[in-house]
Amino acid sequence: MSEPTDRLAARLLAGERLTAPEFAALVAHPEPARDEMLRKAAVERRKAGYGSAVFVRGLIEISSICKNDCLYCGIRCGNPNAERYRLTPEEILRCAEEGYVLGFRTFVLQGGEDPFFTDEILVPLIETLKTRFPDCAVTLSLGERSRDSYQTLFDAGADRYLLRHETATKAHYEKLHPASMSFEHRMQCLRELREIGYQVGAGFMVGSPFQTAEDLGRDLAFLQAFQPEMCGIGPFIPHRDTPFRDFPAGTLELTLRLLSILRLACPNVLLPATTALGTIDPQGRERGILAGANVVMPNLSPVSVRKKYALYEGKICTGEESAQCRDCLAARMRAIGYEIVVDRGDCASIAAQSTQWKIEN
Ligand code: SAH
Repeated sequence: MSEPTDRLAARLLAGERLTAPEFAALVAHPEPARDEMLRKAAVERRKAGYGSAVFVRGLIEISSICKNDCLYCGIRCGNPNAERYRLTPEEILRCAEEGYVLGFRTFVLQGGEDPFFTDEILVPLIETLKTRFPDCAVTLSLGERSRDSYQTLFDAGADRYLLRHETATKAHYEKLHPASMSFEHRMQCLRELREIGYQVGAGFMVGSPFQTAEDLGRDLAFLQAFQPEMCGIGPFIPHRDTPFRDFPAGTLELTLRLLSILRLACPNVLLPATTALGTIDPQGRERGILAGANVVMPNLSPVSVRKKYALYEGKICTGEESAQCRDCLAARMRAIGYEIVVDRGDCASIAAQSTQWKIEN
């Protein structure tokens, strides 16, 4: 007999560790009153660490060229219809400059695994970003690299690295990725990033093909044990040029429940209300914040390339200028009682040693 799920929720609220099957039981049995209780507790926990501040990250999508063939992703190398582009270091610096003026203090350089972005290209770029914008954090999200490369980029000044684990179940990982990629290597990269000293981001898609409650239970147990500084979760959304074109998207409801559970399992984690969540529901990002998220990641990429960075279909905010995106999100956050702040937005345990957040006006 499994423990009644109310008891599991109570243990989660008390800050206890749950096993993967226990998390799975909580996920598999939605119950409106209990879920609302978890949501409220998650918001309280988030307010204890971060008040009503929402951190912004300026997302610069540096390349749609990728050597990998992940079955879910629209920019997989096997998609002949994907439009490929690559920003030059000068273009990336211009995006950051524009972002700085708009109040961004974190730049996220994300892209496919594009062999052009060697350490020789990235090191001077990171050094220039850190010299020109010394009060900013640089986050990389460039996939799997060697330990030496992670170390070199860290030594050049990169502060954080986002590498979603995608799923903590090996058999599930193998259904989402080609045989050339491995679950063990993905996890090894996460361990190496942490050892080197990065603030590390893990995460997964909600409702990815073949995902079960047991898989989600393992994701949550892994995250509670690993305690990443950041965690990106958003719904899977099918892309027509991938083998997963006919699978349904992940749901708003499940994503919101998982955000609340994650906030309770990892109280200080930096948790974005993702663009994918905003894509499946017009109020998705607001609902994400109201479920316990504390980060939004508006797009700083040049408008000319935004539609080409199509990981999934229907992505929002591909037509607007960066300033519009930022203003739109600021208004959306204000409407629900939260405030975007001009700040690097470090994890609460790290930020404790730094200065107070400045509320932007
Ligand atoms: N190449 C980098 C960046 C990947 S893009 C890396 O490997 O880490 C960032 C995230 O987008 C991925 O980790 C994946 O979880 C998510 N993503 C990719 N395709 C998606 C889809 N079809 N729907 C929703 N999210 C997707």
